[in-house]
This record gives sequence, structure tokens and C-alpha cells, in this order.
Amino acid sequence: MEIIKSMEVIPFESLVKQTFNYIHSQKDIDFMKKAYDFALKKHEGQIRKSGEPYVNHVINVAITLAKLQVSPNVIVSGLLHDVIEDSGVTGKELEEMFNEEVRTIVSAVSKLRNLPEIDDDEYQAANQRKIFIAMSKDIRVILVKLADRLHNMMTLEYMPEHKQTKIAKETLNVYAPIAHRLGLGEIKAELEDRSLYFLDREKYFEIAQMVEFKKKERDEMIDHMVKAIDTLLVSNNIIVNISGRSKHLYSIYKKMMFKNKKFDEIYDLQAIRIICKDAMECYGVLGIIHNNFRPIPGRFKDYIAMKKPNMYQSLHTSIIGNDGAIFEVQIRTQEMDDIAEKGFAAHWRYKEGKDKISQKDIEEQLHWFRDFVSLSDESESVKAQDYMQNLQQDIFEANVYALTPKGKVISLPKNASVIDFAYKIHSNVAEQMVGARVNGNFVPFNTKVKTGDVVEIQTQNNAPGPTEGWLEIVKTSNARQRIKHFLKNKKEENRKQLIEKAQNSLLFHIKSRKLDEKKYKLKENVNRALKHYKLVSFEDLLVGIAQEQYDVNNVIDHLYNIRAIFSLPKLLKKSSTTRSRNKSGDPRIIVEGIDSVAVELAKCCHPIPGDNIVGYVASGRAVKVHRKDCHNIKKINRNSFVPVMWDPKASIGQHYDVDIFVKGYDRMYLLSDIVTTLSQANSLIISMDSNIVDLESVMNLKIRVHNGEHLNNILINLRKIDSVISVQRV
Ligand code: MN
Repeated sequence: MEIIKSMEVIPFESLVKQTFNYIHSQKDIDFMKKAYDFALKKHEGQIRKSGEPYVNHVINVAITLAKLQVSPNVIVSGLLHDVIEDSGVTGKELEEMFNEEVRTIVSAVSKLRNLPEIDDDEYQAANQRKIFIAMSKDIRVILVKLADRLHNMMTLEYMPEHKQTKIAKETLNVYAPIAHRLGLGEIKAELEDRSLYFLDREKYFEIAQMVEFKKKERDEMIDHMVKAIDTLLVSNNIIVNISGRSKHLYSIYKKMMFKNKKFDEIYDLQAIRIICKDAMECYGVLGIIHNNFRPIPGRFKDYIAMKKPNMYQSLHTSIIGNDGAIFEVQIRTQEMDDIAEKGFAAHWRYKEGKDKISQKDIEEQLHWFRDFVSLSDESESVKAQDYMQNLQQDIFEANVYALTPKGKVISLPKNASVIDFAYKIHSNVAEQMVGARVNGNFVPFNTKVKTGDVVEIQTQNNAPGPTEGWLEIVKTSNARQRIKHFLKNKKEENRKQLIEKAQNSLLFHIKSRKLDEKKYKLKENVNRALKHYKLVSFEDLLVGIAQEQYDVNNVIDHLYNIRAIFSLPKLLKKSSTTRSRNKSGDPRIIVEGIDSVAVELAKCCHPIPGDNIVGYVASGRAVKVHRKDCHNIKKINRNSFVPVMWDPKASIGQHYDVDIFVKGYDRMYLLSDIVTTLSQANSLIISMDSNIVDLESVMNLKIRVHNGEHLNNILINLRKIDSVISVQRV
């Protein structure tokens, strides 16, 4: 493939020369001329590193595209592909001057300008190709981009060396495989050979020399073979087009490097191509050739019956010539040959009058194409099973490929957020994240990342870190786990700080009250305080102090067993000091500040656990406990009240007798139903008194219950009994 090199501007006629066999309408030619003139004006004065006028680059791109017989819109897009970036033309202007399609293609090409940098990692390179495809969105954009890259490769020697290496690698890893998938055999070969030249110049020249060596001899050999086959076919009344070709350098390089072949072992250095009129004739020709020359076993391939993924069709075989030399023979139809050379583009080659190909057709083709992008390079060796697996992964996993500002590819599941992106880089990055920019713009953390986005995470050492809210946003399980872990650590860290704070406060108050600061830690003291606050760990108590749930001085009172916090009657105080731990005290009741005093449950209101209760010092010797709503309590002087509460632990297994009153319309079995209900509720009837007053049955019962909740359930069940009017606790 040659390009036009000239210090003068390449004339429009050179382009028309390429399009004239398929674009004839004057309107189309004028359209291209308009773009040519526009590019000329916009790139005026700009010089390529080669010293050529810059516009020659875009004209060469357009000419390459014309060789692929693309539509005038695509050729125009090739001519204009650099005006947005290099000449500040806006997309809107392009649409106004040309049309929407041109604008779309040129804008997409401009966006593709900076592909992320690649290292040698094959996985990374595969991702790169996917990004390229996903960002292109349109096969025409890819064609323009390939033509652009081809010309850049042809003029790469004018670039600085580090750029040469970078661009050549990218070409080899991204552009050449895509050209291959598209079946653009010529462009692919050129891209590969040029890349090899810049990446391994020594090998390049070595192979080139070997190919050149005895070239004349080999050419003669090929000529000889071509004639022999032609004669053979003519004698069988078959007229075909036969030609010879040599393999391109990079494919020889690949066989030598990756398949460990010596130069002499590469059979298909020279190939003979036979173009037949149809597929049937291809098989006929194959038969004749195999009949007359010895085929090499294992070298026959039928790509007519089994198309390659890139639509390539041909019969391949290798034969040994009369003089012992080996030839690869390719047999195909003209149409197959077009597809092999011009590739996939041949399928939607521009046809005048047929109008442009609909976007839908292109989408369909592109869809097909995308499916194959995930295939490995050696598509011919991909097994059907692998192929299906790749296809499924692409369709169902729907990955997003985004980039760091340095060009590293980050793959994420669909709908992943910038937070997921940050975690994909490193959990430190995510935890110190204070902001995120997508394609240069600040975005909220719940922003979803799309393929091709360049995401920049801003970090700060004192960042607040992940919050519960992040858990709602993230899509990756890694990020979720890390956030949970972080939050748990943070909680522990907080708790540690609270404990430390409370400890300091506690010590401060102990000192200022001139108490012995060693004593509060004694097990006995701690346990007493914990028992009071119904806690199991001292740390919980400290956290409670820090959170101001408990007053620090009250806690100290409990720790040091200082009882003077309630204004208990003097009598009680005196007596309690002389008493040892009082076993006769009701174990179900806790009297605040005192643990050794006699407690009696009042007989008038029968308090049970769960009831609101009050205690008062009845006789100076015992605390009497009543229900708060007991009418007897109203007569008592409030000054003698002491705070009391049920001990939740001690009430387990205890029982209490309560009086209840049931009223209902009298009927058969009412009494029996009530007894059954009580026995089902595990309540014992201590006594019962039943009367009938005005057709109503009235019952007073004393029953035994465990606690207030038990009683409540019993009352509810009694009320459910048919014809019962009311049930009350007395
Ligand atoms: Mn360009």
C-alpha cells in the first residue's frame, strides 16, 4: 500500500482518481471538493513533522478510505477528521456546512484521539480493543481511524523515538487486530510491518533480507509453478486468474517468534492465488491440483464451508512442486477475494443510487463485529466452545471500561459508580476520596461510570472516609466489603475514644472528690455499679458516661458505694447500717441505693412485675411496694417514698397472685370456658366466686401469674370468650 508523499499540496484530482470507479454523481464530487477546500483552508500553514503540508495527511486518509469504496460522507469525514482538534472548528459548524452524519463521525474520531497507554499485558490490550470499539460506536468511525493510523505509521519516522515505540505498540495491539477482524488484510499487513519496523528494527531487516535473498530465484520458481497450474487447468477447460504473492514480514516474524519456526520452515512464504468463477469451481480446481501435486498433510483448510469470523473465505492447501519447493495455494472466488483484501467494508461498499446504508444496517454489522472483538488474536484456533463463552461474557457481563488519567484501564460492572472505580484502584484511594472528576467535570459520588470515561479521583489525607450512604451506591462486592470493614473499624475507633474520654472524666472527678483513685477498679465496686446500671461490661458504662447517659458523679457514688444520694428517712438509714445483707428482703425488688432492706409487696393492689410501682418506708423496718395506681398510695406522704424497680433477672420463675373481675351474659358453659382458657394459659385459679346479677354472670377470681405480660395475655384471651362483656384486674 503506497501513500502519496509530496511537499506540495496533493491535488483534489488524486482523490477523485480513487473514487471515480464508484462515485460518479457531480453532487457527490462537489460535496467532496467542498470538504477538500475547507480542510485546505483550516489546515493552511500547518506543517507535518515530515515537512509536508498538514493537509496532505487528511487527503491521504481520504484516499485510503476511497480505496475501501466507502460513501462520500465517510470520505468527507476523512478529509475533516482533524479540523475539530487542530483548527478549533465546532461540531455545530460541521453540521451546518456538511451534514449531521459528517459531524457525528468526525466528533467520534476526535474523541478517540487519546487512547490510553498500553503496556505489554495481553489482557490490557484486549480491553483496549474493547474500549476502542465501544467508543467508536460506528464502523465508519473505525474505518476513518484506521486510515488515519495507517498514514501516521507511514510517517512515523519523523516522530521522536519514545513516541514511535508507544504508537507502534498501540498499532500492533489495537489497530492491527481490529483491521484483521474487519478483514482489511492489506491495511492489517501494512500496520503490522510498520510496527515491527519501529519495535524490532533488527529483526525487521533480518527478515526483509531473507525474503529478498534469492528473491529472483523464488520469483522464477513461482512463475514456473503458476504456468504449470494454468496449463493444467486449461487442459481441463477451466480458465482462471492465477497470481503469486509473498507473505508480509510481520506474519513471517510471528511464525518465527511464536511458533518457533526457522525461516526455511515457513511454507507459505510464497503463495499462489487462484480466482474462480464460483465456489463449485474452487472445489474442482482443488481436486485437479491435489491429483497432480503432492499435498502436505494437515495443511488443507476449507474456509469456504467454514467461514472465518472475519468473513474470510477461501480454500487453502500446500503442495510440493516438481522441484521440491513448497507452495501455499489459495483458491477462492472474486467476491471472496474482495472480502479478503478490502474486508468487511466490502459488505457495505457504497453503491450509487442505492442511497446510503441505513444506520440500522451498520448497527447490525457492528453488533456482529463487537461480538468478535473479544476473540483472541488467533481466531482460527479459537474453538467453538471458547467462542460461545466469549460471546456470552460480552453480552451478559456488560462490562464498562473506564480509564485513569494515566490511561490505565479499569473494568467495572454495568452501573458501577465513581466510588467503585476508586476502590478498583486501591482501597486507600477510595477511603481518602474527597472528589471525583469524570472527563474533567466534578461529579457527585453516585455518578455511574461509562465506557471511555476518564475518571480522576481526588484524595486528601484527612478525608472523612466512607459512610453508610456509600453502601447504597456501590455495585462491586469488593467495594461493599471494604466499606463495611471501614465502618466497623471506625465504630471501634470511636468507642475507644469515648472510653478514653470517660476514663479521664471519671478520674478527674474521683480526684476532685478526694476519693481513693485506686479503689474504683476493684471488682466488687465495679460489679456493684454494673448491677445497678444493668450492664455487663465496665466499658459500656464508660461509653454511657461519655455519651451523657449516666451522670459521672452518680456513677462514682455507686462505685464507692456512697448511699447518700436519696433522702431516705433517718430511721431507715440507721437501721440499714446495722443490718447485714437482708435475706428477708424481696429478691424481686430493687430499692435504689440499698441492697439490704426488707421489702413487702402490698396486699391491697398485688403488684406484679411489669406494673409501675412505688415504694415507701412503712414502719421504719421495711419498704412496702404498691402499684402506682393503687388508691392506698394517695394517702401516703410523698417524702417517705423511695425509688424501687423490678429486678428483671430475679423475677424469672417467680409467681404472683392477682385478683380479676369478669362480667358476661350468662349462658351454658361460660364458667367452663373461662376455666379452660385459664388452664390453657398456664394460670392456676386460687379462688373463685361467681354470682348471677340481672342475667349477667359476675365472677371474682384470684389467679396466679408470672408477670405483667403473662397477666395481660390472660386478660386478652378472657375477653375473646363469647358473651364475656368485660374483664378487669381489680
Ligand atoms: Mn489524523
